[in-house]
Amino acid sequence: MDAQIQHLVHLQALDTRLAELRNRLQAIPAQLAAVDARVSNTRQQIAAAKEALTASLKDRKKYEMDVDSWKEKARKYRDQSFEVKTNEAYKALQHEIQHAETQVAQAEDRLLERMVAGEEYERQVKTAEGSVNIVEGEAQAERQKIQAEESSLQQELQTKEAERGEIASEIPEELLGTYERIAARRHGIGLAEIRDEACGLCGMRVRPHVFQELRRSDSHEIFQCESCTRILYYVEPPVAISPDAESKASAAGISANEP
Ligand SMILES: [Zn+2]
Repeated sequence: MDAQIQHLVHLQALDTRLAELRNRLQAIPAQLAAVDARVSNTRQQIAAAKEALTASLKDRKKYEMDVDSWKEKARKYRDQSFEVKTNEAYKALQHEIQHAETQVAQAEDRLLERMVAGEEYERQVKTAEGSVNIVEGEAQAERQKIQAEESSLQQELQTKEAERGEIASEIPEELLGTYERIAARRHGIGLAEIRDEACGLCGMRVRPHVFQELRRSDSHEIFQCESCTRILYYVEPPVAISPDAESKASAAGISANEP
């Protein structure tokens, strides 16, 4: 393989990884926002439970006052009933007393209901407050994990960008420009390996003389795919000497393919 093409293959690998790193870094603010939203959601639940508790306590006060005021009225009518002169007036007061006592009983029922509800709200607030600590603890751990990932991605990005700069400086400007123009149009992939005498990415057949030229170890010509325009390169398959040598070569990966 031509040295320039080798640089391009290396550059392509770096560019692919760089694009991946940038994508992942871009997604991080949304990930952090989702964690924050979970915490604020739990906080809102607590606020709602507290509000319900406050309202229930207010009702309780009101019903307590109702009980007292109806009790007071009943007492007043009872006092008056000792002083009335006519039977009619006495009966009327008895009626008032009965009414006031009914009201006392009703207010006491409502009060009891509120007290039970209040206990339930109190329990809800306590439960929610307990869970907010858990949720916050988990959120904090998750934030730290995301931030640690972010800084490691940033670090790799810087290293790979520097590496890219070095490799790019080894490639003639015109060739680099061609690669970059194609990559920009083709989802970041400016190179295509020839497989089965066709472009490995779009499947377009490679003309025989181009294929022959690319197979020559002393060839420096650059060919582009006639369909997707990507810069073509060819990796000679490993020569099978014995089954043992072949398995060694395949175990060693791509580097075993080079002469
Ligand atoms: Zn192609």
